Amino acid sequence: MITPEEALQRILAGIGPLRPERVPLIESLGRVLAEDVISDIDVAPFDNSAMDGYAVRAEDVRDASQDAPVVLRVVDYVPAGKMPEREVGTGEASRIMTGAPMPEGADAVVKVEVTRGLENDGGSGGTVEIQRPVRPSENVRYRGEDVRVGDVVMKAGESVGAAGIGLLAAMGYHHVTVHRKPRVGIVSTGDELVEVAERPGPGRIRNSNAWSLSAQVLEAGGEPVVLGIARDTEEETKALLGRAPEFDLMLSTGGVSMGDFDVVKSVLTGMGEMDFWKIAQRPGSPLTFGRIGGAPFFGLPGNPTATMVSFELYVRPMMRLMEGHAAISRPHVIAVLAVDVRKKPGKRYYWRGRLRREEGRLVVETTGNQSSALLTSMHLANCLMVLPEEATAIPAGSLVDCMRLDMEEGAAE
Ligand code: AMP
Ligand code: MG
Repeated sequence: MITPEEALQRILAGIGPLRPERVPLIESLGRVLAEDVISDIDVAPFDNSAMDGYAVRAEDVRDASQDAPVVLRVVDYVPAGKMPEREVGTGEASRIMTGAPMPEGADAVVKVEVTRGLENDGGSGGTVEIQRPVRPSENVRYRGEDVRVGDVVMKAGESVGAAGIGLLAAMGYHHVTVHRKPRVGIVSTGDELVEVAERPGPGRIRNSNAWSLSAQVLEAGGEPVVLGIARDTEEETKALLGRAPEFDLMLSTGGVSMGDFDVVKSVLTGMGEMDFWKIAQRPGSPLTFGRIGGAPFFGLPGNPTATMVSFELYVRPMMRLMEGHAAISRPHVIAVLAVDVRKKPGKRYYWRGRLRREEGRLVVETTGNQSSALLTSMHLANCLMVLPEEATAIPAGSLVDCMRLDMEEGAAE
């Protein structure tokens, strides 16, 4: 039996980002850049107005006030998307909209709220009363103020969020080079399993693991491929696990404990290499890890919660590395235990917990029956409480380490 730390270390050894691929812009959402993003334009691309109002020469309106407004001649009207046609001379103004290019001669914009248009209906012509002074440059956004041509706006290794998509769009990246998503093969083992659409007969249960795992793979940014159910024979198990080289990563559930029909380990040793098969933790102790035809292979335990917890602790970090993410650990927080907890010494327990804030403190409660066969404890959980190996009785009020399942890796803790 090895410790969870050693298991993770052995699992992640030699794992790195998958090769880059070029994808349409929107498909880069949530993925990691494999190239620096370099601007082909200045942002702003030209000097433009930050307000709806009047482009003026600041010195013309230096003494403007509500009681003694300065009256300027309106010589042009510049909506966004149009170029100015007239310069602004002394005693003149151009009506201008947000984002419209600044006319020559003007050096500031007076917002419309402190003006009163006279003898006009909003277009050019007529005059305008300016009721407040502006500083030179006020309400003007200058060319290249945010970004200059050739600037690196996003770096390889950064992940792409919604704002990143916007930046990429602004820089003309209709396609983006990101790391490939891991393709993950999923095999369920067990004579007792039936497909979801079926009503289980006597002694049978539905194959729920293939579904929870597919969802976890999707949430982790990968592409799940469900390969179906292998009955508990060497032949069927071999036939499905033998497909591992088609994938970046292969998962199976069940068949890894000490039962008479637990054939996954012997199949693995027969056609691949076994690295280890037991971790000093609960749930998820009988986890088998190795390689089949070069592809990493996890023989996850069959109990539905054990499957999911093992995925969270070991498979997800591996997928994050393959995806090119730098952050592979979920945020941890310290919370006050709301109930007494008992455990056996020797193994680390990962109990499903629910964190909440109470009078400014984080408090954590267990999510009911912690049997690894019951998915409800996982369904209600937003964290895994990490209960140390040596601990036996942990009284309410103790501080416990909690791994947040509701926050992404790299989020502020
Ligand atoms: P095993 O390690 O194969 O003995 O499986 C442990 C427990 O998990 C047994 O009660 C199985 O019925 C259950 N189990 C195994 N595979 C699945 C599955 N795909 N979906 C739901 N439960 C499963
Ligand atoms: Mg089984």
